[in-house]
Amino acid sequence: MYKEMDSEYVLNTYPRNYVNFKHGQNATLFDDKGKDYIDFTSGIGVTSVGHGNARLATAIADQASNLIHTSNLYLIEPQAKLAKKISELYGQNVGTFFANSGAEANEGAIKLARKYGQKNFDGKRYKIITLAHSFHGRTITTVKATGQDSFHKPDFSPYPKGFSYEPNIEAIYSAVDDETVAVMIELVQGEGGVQPFDKEEIQKLALFLKEKEILFIVDEVQTGIYRSGEFLATNLYDIQPDIITLAKGLAGGVPIGAVVTTHKDIFEVGDHGSTFGGNFLSARAGLEVLDILESYKNSGELDEAFIYFDEKLKEFGSMFPKLFGEVVGLGLMRGLRCFDSTDLSALIDIAFKEGVLVLKSGRNTLRFLPPLTISKAEIDEGFKRLTNAYKTIN
Ligand SMILES: *Cc1c(COP(=O)(O)O)cnc(C)c1O
Repeated sequence: MYKEMDSEYVLNTYPRNYVNFKHGQNATLFDDKGKDYIDFTSGIGVTSVGHGNARLATAIADQASNLIHTSNLYLIEPQAKLAKKISELYGQNVGTFFANSGAEANEGAIKLARKYGQKNFDGKRYKIITLAHSFHGRTITTVKATGQDSFHKPDFSPYPKGFSYEPNIEAIYSAVDDETVAVMIELVQGEGGVQPFDKEEIQKLALFLKEKEILFIVDEVQTGIYRSGEFLATNLYDIQPDIITLAKGLAGGVPIGAVVTTHKDIFEVGDHGSTFGGNFLSARAGLEVLDILESYKNSGELDEAFIYFDEKLKEFGSMFPKLFGEVVGLGLMRGLRCFDSTDLSALIDIAFKEGVLVLKSGRNTLRFLPPLTISKAEIDEGFKRLTNAYKTIN
C-alpha cells in the first residue's frame, strides 16, 4: 500500500527498496513485520551514534519543546557553541558557516574559494581542480565538481565553468596554473572505492598548495566526525587545509552541513546565507552527537570498535578468496574489493534478505559504514548473516 503511495506521489529518483523500517536500536533496524536487520550503512554514514540513541533523542526533544528555529538574524546559542566545539575538537582556530547538507557545504566552500580569488588575485584565479572518482554533491555546481563523467549528464547542462579533474594526486602538480584558486579532494574517496590516499603524498600536496597560495579544500562530508578514528581525517593526516566541509555524521541524522575555515575574513555580511542552516534543532543535535562521540573516543571504546570490526572484516574477506580481494579504508569506513561486480550486487541483495544492510562503492567494492557506536554483538551478527548470504549465492 505504501509502495503504491510512494510510487504515485514521490518523484522517482532512487532505486528504492520498499522495506518499511519502524524503529531502531544502535546498529539494528526493525521493519513493520518485526524482522531485524544489522545496519552496516548508518544511512550512508549519517547515524553516527546509532538509531534510537536515548541521549540524542532527549536533547532533540528538549530543544524542540523550547525552540526549533528563529533564523540567522538572531543569535543561536547552540550554533555558537557548536562552532566553538568544532574548533576545539579540530585543534585549530577556525570559523564555521552552517548549511543543511554536504552539497550545500561544498557550495559554500566553492563560493568562499571564488571570493578568495577575487579578493587576493583580482579575479584572475577561479578554477578548482578535483579528482577522478570523487563525489562532492548533487547541486549543479557540486555535481560538476564531482570527477565522474557519469554524473555530468547533458540533460542538466549548461554547467558552471572552472572545474577540471585529475586522475590522481601526482597529476595535480602539473595541472595547476595561474587561474587555479583551489584544489578540492576527499582523503578517503567514499563513493569512489573507499581508497584512502597516502599520508605523505597528501602532506606534500598541502605544502605545495600553501606555497602557491592555492586553497586546499578537504571534503570531509563522509570522513569527518570520528569516522576515520580521529575527529577529522585531517587530524589523522596531520594537515591544515584552508577549508574543510562536514555534514553526514555531524548531527546523527538531523540535516546539517558545515564549512570550516581558517580564512575567517573572506565572507562578509550578505555574501552567503541559509534559512535553516545551523538552527536550534540541528545545532543542538550536533552538540549532543559531538559530546557523545568525544567521550566514546576518550574512553577507548571507539578504537576498540575499529579494531574489532577490522578483525571481523578481514576474517570474513579471507574466508571467501574467490570473491574478495583487498581490504580497504580506515576507521569505520571500510571496503572489500570484489572480483566480480555481478556477484557483488547479488550478495548485497541476498544480504538484505538475510538481515544485514551493506553498500556498494564504485564498481566493485562492498562498503561498510556502520554507526560508530556499533556493539561487538552486532558486528558478530552482521558478519554471520553476510557469511550466510555468501553461502546462498555459491
Ligand atoms: C555524501 C557526500 C556529499 C553530499 O552530501 P549531501 O548531504 O548528500 O548533499 C558530498 N561529499 C561527500 C564526500 C559525500 O560523501
